[in-house]
Amino acid sequence: TIRNMTRQDRASIPLIYTGGTIGMKEDPIEQTLKPFDFSQILAEVPELGKFAHRIDSYTFTPLIDSSDVEPKLWVSIADLIERKYNEYDGFVILHGTDTMAYSASVLSFMIEELTKPIIFTGSQLPIGSPRTDGKENLISSIEIAAAKDEAGHAVVPEVCIFFDNMLMRGNRTTKINSDNFRAFRSENYPLLAEAGINIRYNSSAILSPTDWNATPVFHKNLDTRVSILKLHPGITPQVVEHILCGNESRAVILETYGAGNAPSKQWFLDLIHKASEMGKIIVNVTQCLAGSVNMDIYATGKRLKDEGVCSGYDSTSEGALGKLFYLMGDSEDNETVKSRLEHILRGEISK
Ligand code: ASP
Repeated sequence: TIRNMTRQDRASIPLIYTGGTIGMKEDPIEQTLKPFDFSQILAEVPELGKFAHRIDSYTFTPLIDSSDVEPKLWVSIADLIERKYNEYDGFVILHGTDTMAYSASVLSFMIEELTKPIIFTGSQLPIGSPRTDGKENLISSIEIAAAKDEAGHAVVPEVCIFFDNMLMRGNRTTKINSDNFRAFRSENYPLLAEAGINIRYNSSAILSPTDWNATPVFHKNLDTRVSILKLHPGITPQVVEHILCGNESRAVILETYGAGNAPSKQWFLDLIHKASEMGKIIVNVTQCLAGSVNMDIYATGKRLKDEGVCSGYDSTSEGALGKLFYLMGDSEDNETVKSRLEHILRGEISK
């Protein structure tokens, strides 16, 4: 269920509240953080009244800790944006930080030909706490969502995360710190903007739609049959076989070492071969925070390539997951998915 409140002003931005620390407060009995009502967020941020914009709010029920995010929430967010697309100049989504990078990644793939900003934000400290980072994050996100150029086009028509003065492409981010205000990183792609006294946009890094008048296409069919196999020294054939060749998954993200390297032991290569013969989509993503997979450098990487393993290039695991959910939801044919993985769809990889 979604509740709606309206306050009239100039530009139009909805705050879509899903939960997360930003809107939590301490439950006096359990002494744990729990989400609270959106009207209390507004009361904590009187600065919102200083905007010349019209700011509406949409609250999802139940409000969640983002560790509970499921694909149906992504579909609900996409539904809401689709229904209200023409009514607003941009969208701000308040979301817990724990899975924000996953949600921003998948949403970027679910919406094709986006012409307006969709900004995810949240905070490390509740908005009611004196040292909160939530106010800054929220206020700057609204400003970015409302920003237009001289031609009247949105300055950042992308799905982004704004956190600690940094605007990042959503599908390039990872949560890297659980207690620092600088919780997110975009290691393989430059910041889209930085907020100081002014918000400085990095225009050359920001994507533009092919047609500003296009109506975006919303893809809400997600196939989530993906598993992630993180390699580590000492991993056993039983574990690898279970994750790689189990019937539950259509695709496996292989988190490899360095530039995309994996063990060269025969049992490992045999299992990759077996999964490949089963028709599985295997995507090679590096465990490193920065840098790219290149299966041509080392013999160990080259063998994976020869077995039909796809390169994830410099994508994050979150980005690769979102891309697979979308592509597999769009096509039943694994070969089609594999060939579309090679394309840059929403600026998620560099090649
Ligand atoms: N556990 C919280 C969540 O992701 C953390 C946060 O919002 O920062 O909902």
